[in-house]
Amino acid sequence: MMGTSCSITVFRRADEKYIRECFDILFAIEKRISAKIDDSEIGLVNQNAGKSAVKVSPETYALVKRAMEIEKLTEGAFNPLVGRVTALWNIGSGEEKVPSKEELAPLVEAVKRAEVVFDDSASTIYITEESAALDLGAIGKGYSSDILASYLKKKGVARAIINLGGNVYAVGSKGRGKLWNVGLRSPDGDGIFATVATKEGAVVTSGAYERYFVSDGVMYHHIIDPETGYPVDLDLLSASILSTDGTLADALSTAVFVLGRDRGIELIKRLGVNAVLLTKERETIRL
Ligand code: AMP
Ligand code: MG
Repeated sequence: MMGTSCSITVFRRADEKYIRECFDILFAIEKRISAKIDDSEIGLVNQNAGKSAVKVSPETYALVKRAMEIEKLTEGAFNPLVGRVTALWNIGSGEEKVPSKEELAPLVEAVKRAEVVFDDSASTIYITEESAALDLGAIGKGYSSDILASYLKKKGVARAIINLGGNVYAVGSKGRGKLWNVGLRSPDGDGIFATVATKEGAVVTSGAYERYFVSDGVMYHHIIDPETGYPVDLDLLSASILSTDGTLADALSTAVFVLGRDRGIELIKRLGVNAVLLTKERETIRL
């Protein structure tokens, strides 16, 4: 689900019963926020872009607001308004083709012009440009992991691992003073290139290798530079962010990947999060 495979691990047999509920929660979140589902709340907001404001649940409202705050924080490297651009590329669908410059240009312009208008008292969201749309794919899994982590803790689960397609959230402590070791998958597909030791919290990775297609010998991956509308030029092979805030970690991993090594490091330092970057030269940078 969520376009990837998801797993939840608990360590006591008595906690097993909560796993089913976790997947029900995930299905409900996906139904609410997926841009690919026409009658999801985000689907409806997108269909009414440039036309009218749409009332959404308090949860979706808060998530979109948070996403737009992080858009500012990252100076637009993470920009959830790229929805029409990502829909045009449709990477991961199995029917990809490279869009023409003529198709892309007006959508990229719309992303630059678009704003999201929030009405706190009415709980409505309005996208000011018809050719812009929300895609919460770069924040949704981290957001979901936060919700699952707090659900499991509320149920008294002392220890669990949530893995939503590379968005890992370690719940609770591993045991007396022990840290969790989270492996970062190697972009070549076999094994891991690094491990990170962490207390409770999220370790979220963005990488070009997760979803891509090849056309005329060129690799096109799923992380888009909002400035150009094309997949970002590969400077990093992957960017991993550590934080107790999974939502933030997810958005930032995408932003750092877009910014590339130098500007990415600047952002990581400015925000004071921990990170592991893998460069194209296969250098591992820990921050
Ligand atoms: P992630 O795997 O978290 O890095 O998220 C990548 C997904 O977010 C893509 O599959 C797109 O749906 C969407 N996306 C791509 N580029 C961006 C971007 N620059 N800002 C926000 N979302 C993006
Ligand atoms: Mg992300």
